[in-house]
Amino acid sequence: MEGNSSSNSQAKSTLGTIVSAFLSSDSSVKADSWQSYVDGMLKIDVYFAEKKPRYKEEKKVENYTVKGEKNYQAVKETFLKRDDFKGKTIQDLRCAVAKGVNSSQLKPGDKCTMSWKEITEGGFEYKKLNKVRFGKKTLIVGEWLSKEMKLREGTLKLELYEDQRDNDTKVFDGPLKIMIDGVENTKLELAFSENNNEDNKKFEKEITISPKSDSELQSLVKKIGERKDKNAFIYVRAKFLGWLPGGWGLEANYLKEGHPFKVYVRDVCPIDKRYQSHFVIHSTAYEVPESKILSWKNSKVTGQGHKYVMRDGKVIEVWPFSAKNVFATKAEHKAGKVSKGQMFHVELNYKELVLPTEAQYQALADLYLEAADVHDYWPIIVPHIEVDRGIPDGHRDPSDFDYNRFYDILKKRNVPIDDIPHFEHERYWGEAAPGSEPLYWDPQASDNFSWPPVLKRKPNPPKLGNTKETRLQRIQRWERASAMKEQEKK
Ligand SMILES: [Zn+2]
Repeated sequence: MEGNSSSNSQAKSTLGTIVSAFLSSDSSVKADSWQSYVDGMLKIDVYFAEKKPRYKEEKKVENYTVKGEKNYQAVKETFLKRDDFKGKTIQDLRCAVAKGVNSSQLKPGDKCTMSWKEITEGGFEYKKLNKVRFGKKTLIVGEWLSKEMKLREGTLKLELYEDQRDNDTKVFDGPLKIMIDGVENTKLELAFSENNNEDNKKFEKEITISPKSDSELQSLVKKIGERKDKNAFIYVRAKFLGWLPGGWGLEANYLKEGHPFKVYVRDVCPIDKRYQSHFVIHSTAYEVPESKILSWKNSKVTGQGHKYVMRDGKVIEVWPFSAKNVFATKAEHKAGKVSKGQMFHVELNYKELVLPTEAQYQALADLYLEAADVHDYWPIIVPHIEVDRGIPDGHRDPSDFDYNRFYDILKKRNVPIDDIPHFEHERYWGEAAPGSEPLYWDPQASDNFSWPPVLKRKPNPPKLGNTKETRLQRIQRWERASAMKEQEKK
């Protein structure tokens, strides 16, 4: 939704900017039944929004007499330990000392003037959204703007319709389907009352503009996605029924046209240095202890993945996905063939010859959805093995990863995987059944490096000559090799 005023040439009344138009085409509307009571005063806005915490900033000044503190740093510490500073963010704590006093060598009795800013989190505010992603949870807010008029209670009934505009056809027939608490509906109601909200003016409901059926959702996503701008314009029809303290009844209808809001579907991420366009799947090759991952986090190591997924599905974050100074491939690091900040890196924590767990596949899908939110684009899916292709000693992880299984999980979560470029299962596994030997192994120096990475078709045959080895034979070979290593140690 854009703006908060509505202009409709069919408006019959001189009401405020919001209640600007009656549904003149709807014969059931009897506008006159309430107009005489509230002439020009009933104003309600409807919009989509997200909640943001609200911060309050206060400037403080206090005189302080130095007790035992030897310098300004010590005075600062005295202040920061104070009970009344707990739970607050203190910024710009400064010390001003009397003339002739050296703040780096204070003596008892010296006078300081301390000044600082206190930032406290309190409540939240609604940030209006001018577009809403189709199929994603959002808040719809009704705001009572009639300050002169005290409301006892009321209900705002809403329906959403598509505004076809220049499009040849509509995507949605009739009122749009909406999901509220898992139930499909075409109508939604916002309950207005005197006290159910702190500032007594805004009333919200969490909704998802989506039908319940996955197949219906997917076909609508496809239809919107086929449009040039991948969106549809939606307007609101609403009816308000309410009571004023004196017992007066209100009934109002309006149409929010003129400034419809956008419902859009998410696009595939463009390959551009501004975005992290690639979601890179890794495996760690040995099981890294949690303490070690946390030590990378604490020491802010940039040469590791953003997130680690443990065997039980627990995710340990080294960096938030929004961090762009992170690298985990040779292509970004030694070879310097791709600049940092173009990939999201997720490390599945399992050792060689072990298969990832179902919990790890599920957590990886969660993380894919989280990464998609960072730039509001669907990232391209690629394994580390393909990013490093063509780099000598490039990594070949994730090992024994079942790509199709992962894509099926994403599909169940309504990720339009067929439209998102993704590494083809067969490129790794060839014709082999899951669990058997992959078609190829290490990236070879003789391969061609490619950015963006190649996702499809049969790769070069491996040069290690182990293609005919079964998974079991490979396990036995590895076991023999590690036994020999143990032997050498002794
Ligand atoms: Zn890797």
